[in-house]
Amino acid sequence: MVTTESARGLIPEADLELIRNKVSIDELLRDYDLQLVEAGGGRLKALCPFHNEKTPSFSVNLDKQFYYCFGCQAGGNIFTFVQEYERVGFPEAAEMLARKAGVVLQRTAKRDDQYHKTLEVYDALDYAAGFYHTYLLEDAGAQGAREYLAARGMNEEMQRTFRLGCSPPGWDELLKNASAAGHSVEVLDRAGLIRQNKTGKGSGFFDEFRGKLIFPISDAQGRTIGFGARRLAGDDDPAKYRNTRETSLFNKSKVLYALPQSKQGIRREKAIVVVEGYTDAIMAHQAGLDFFVASLGTAFTQENTQALKRYADRVYMIFDGDSAGLKAAERSIELLVGENLDVLIYPLSDGKDPCDAIAELGGDVFWESVQADSVDIFDFKWNRTIETGEAAASPQMLSRGVKDFLSLVAKISDKVARRVVLNKYVE
Ligand SMILES: [Zn+2]
Repeated sequence: MVTTESARGLIPEADLELIRNKVSIDELLRDYDLQLVEAGGGRLKALCPFHNEKTPSFSVNLDKQFYYCFGCQAGGNIFTFVQEYERVGFPEAAEMLARKAGVVLQRTAKRDDQYHKTLEVYDALDYAAGFYHTYLLEDAGAQGAREYLAARGMNEEMQRTFRLGCSPPGWDELLKNASAAGHSVEVLDRAGLIRQNKTGKGSGFFDEFRGKLIFPISDAQGRTIGFGARRLAGDDDPAKYRNTRETSLFNKSKVLYALPQSKQGIRREKAIVVVEGYTDAIMAHQAGLDFFVASLGTAFTQENTQALKRYADRVYMIFDGDSAGLKAAERSIELLVGENLDVLIYPLSDGKDPCDAIAELGGDVFWESVQADSVDIFDFKWNRTIETGEAAASPQMLSRGVKDFLSLVAKISDKVARRVVLNKYVE
C-alpha cells in the first residue's frame, strides 16, 4: 500500500506506523517545551507555538493523536507538527522522528546504500567532534586553547553547549583514534577530516586540523557537518580561520552557525540576529541572547537568505564596523531585498564587533540598542551611497550614488512596496 505520505518521501508505510507507535503527540510536544495542561475528555491544551497568544487555544486530542489550534487553525499529527515547527519537508520530519523513535527507515536498495554511506560520514563527524571536545576539556595539550577561551571570557557551559574542541598538534592523532574506533580512512576522507599526503613521500593521510581551536558546525537538525578551526598562539598558519573543505554534507554557504542552539530563542523573539563570527554568536548566547547566529565568512548568500526566511520574518544583521564588514553588508542586502525579508541592519561603530559591544553593554542593553537603532536596508544604502563625502563631492558621483540606490529599489518585487520606498527618498 502506498500512502501519499510514503509516496512523498519513499518511506514505507510500515516505518511510518512504527514511528507513530513509538512517538506520542504529547511526548513530542513536551520535548518541544510546550506546557500541556489537562483540558478534560482526553484532551490537553497549551499556548500555541504557531501564533502569539495569552490564553491557550492549542488543543491536543490524545485519542486521535492530533493537535488543532482554534486561534490560527494550525493542526495535524506528529509529522505535521515537526514539519511546521522545524520548517522542513515531510522526508526530513520523518527522518527526525525516526531518530527520536530509534527507527531505521527502510529505503529502496539504492537509496538505502546511499543513506548508509551518508550515515557513516555523520558518525565520523560526530566522533571527531567528541574527540576534539574531550581533548579541549581534559588534555594537557589543549592548555593554549583553554587559555584563549578564558581570555575571551567564554564560560565552560558555552564550551559544552557549542561542543567546542581542540585538535591535537600531532599529524595523525584523530586519524589513529578514529581508525581504532572503527571509522575507515575512506569515510574520514569523505568527511573532510583527513587529507592525503601528495608531496611524493608515500600516500599516507594526515589530520586536516592540527593544533587548532575547533568549532563544530551543525545543520539545522543539530548534526555535525563540518568544522571551523581557529589558529592558536604559536601556530604559523597564515590563515586565522579555516573550514572543513566542501564535502557532500558541508557547504559553507548553506550553513548558519549556532542555528540549532538558537531555535527556541528565535521562536520566542520572533526574530533572528545574524553576526559574522563564531565567537560573536557564542558570546551573545552567553549573555542570554540565544537567538544570535553567525554566517560563515563575510559574504551572505542566497542560500542563507532562504534559510532565514524559514525561521523568522524579522532579521537583524550586524556586520563588523570595519570596511570589510560594511562591504559585506552591501553585498548581502542586495540579496535580501530580492527575498522580501524584513531586514534591519545595525550599524556598529568603527572597528567594533558584536562581542565588544555585548561585553561593554551587557546582553539586554545591547539587544535594546539593536532594536532601537537598526535601520532598514534602504536607509543603510542611502546613507552609504548618497550621504557620503564622496557623493557630495561632485554631481557625477552623486548621480552614480542615486543610480546605485535606484537599482537596489528596483529589486523589490512588490509594486506597492517599491512605490512606498521611492516616495520616501525621492522628493
Ligand atoms: Zn495557533
